[in-house]
Amino acid sequence: MATTPTSMAPTATMNRAQECEALKAYIRAVPDFPKPGILFYDITTLLKQRKPFARVVDLLAEHYASQSIAVVAGIEARGFIFGPALAYRLGAGFVPIRKPGKLPAPAAAAEYSLEYGTDKLEIHRDAITRGQRVLIVDDLIATGGTAIASTQLVEQLGGTVAGLAFIIELTFLNGRQRLAQYDVLSLLQYAE
Ligand code: AMP
Repeated sequence: MATTPTSMAPTATMNRAQECEALKAYIRAVPDFPKPGILFYDITTLLKQRKPFARVVDLLAEHYASQSIAVVAGIEARGFIFGPALAYRLGAGFVPIRKPGKLPAPAAAAEYSLEYGTDKLEIHRDAITRGQRVLIVDDLIATGGTAIASTQLVEQLGGTVAGLAFIIELTFLNGRQRLAQYDVLSLLQYAE
């Protein structure tokens, strides 16, 4: 059965770590979705509540506020939810990193491996200008494969990956280690 978010709310006296821990109350963990054995971390229960949603965006924005981010690149699909809100807060542009065949203009592609087989991500070739500082955003980092492919896309276009930001990190899958050369930020960590 899915765990129901509780009413534990972040308060003004909490420090950043405590506040992030409290935000976990708004994430719904759904066992066996999309297939048996996967515990799916559902962010829709956080998004529908105005204060936790705003706070998550603000916590990310605070971290990157002084880092001259020119473009936020959001990974399809849930990076499209947080990415534009964060871009707005940072005064940056927003660029979509999409599943294959969705972008109308010429695109660059990067492949990455899944449990069985490979998948691909694409970005418009004119989405990023050489030397622009790009912040990559997704809802969750698991193995890091999606994130690595996204860094390759940004770098193919001559962009500089200024960082990668996630709401959730599944620390037991060690995705962060595969991104060791980058600044990786996650707000909520799950160790199992
Ligand atoms: P990975 O490439 O293994 O880091 O997987 C990250 C991508 O898969 C992100 O776009 C996530 O939205 C999605 N994802 C992977 N595992 C989960 C999970 N347990 N719950 C929710 N989303 C997940």
